[in-house]
Amino acid sequence: MKSVDIVEAPPGHTGSGFFATSFDEVIGIARSNSLWPLPFATSCCGIEFMATMGSHYDIARFGSERPSFSPRQADLLMVMGTIAKKMAPILKQVYIQMAEPRWVLAMGACASSGGIFDSYPVLQGIDRIIPVDVYVPGCPPRPEQVLEGLMQVQELARNESLRRRNSEQYQELMSSYNIQ
Ligand code: SF4
Repeated sequence: MKSVDIVEAPPGHTGSGFFATSFDEVIGIARSNSLWPLPFATSCCGIEFMATMGSHYDIARFGSERPSFSPRQADLLMVMGTIAKKMAPILKQVYIQMAEPRWVLAMGACASSGGIFDSYPVLQGIDRIIPVDVYVPGCPPRPEQVLEGLMQVQELARNESLRRRNSEQYQELMSSYNIQ
């Protein structure tokens, strides 16, 4: 019969953290491979997203083939296109309606920085109103770049700790955006 080694916890550790850490890892792997995007598309970058969703690029490989148009059923907000200042409160409301944990991907120059629309009615980057996790450069970005951005969000989701969202640091970040 095969013997099983019992590993003692190191001195000063009760071993009670082991379960939480492993649980975080399992949840992270599952979550990162089943991100449900909410496409907030306002202009041309949205067309490139449609190409990304097509069979040629096969976003189903990443478990994200199911776009959600309800913020309550999405965990990845993908903002693509110009965001006018009048639309900004709506985008923020959508973000607030998403459950934790949630991630934000800014696709293209307009969503990231206002792009070529350096003009008074255009929001100069969505990070002025909500926190952004990944920026995808380009005007528009190619589908390969969008998938690269998605993989970066997967990496974040995989390493996300359940504890981080309750941390003081995270609460401070949210309050800096006036999000409770
Ligand atoms: S970044 Fe370029 S392609 Fe994308 S919405 Fe702006 S102008 Fe259109």
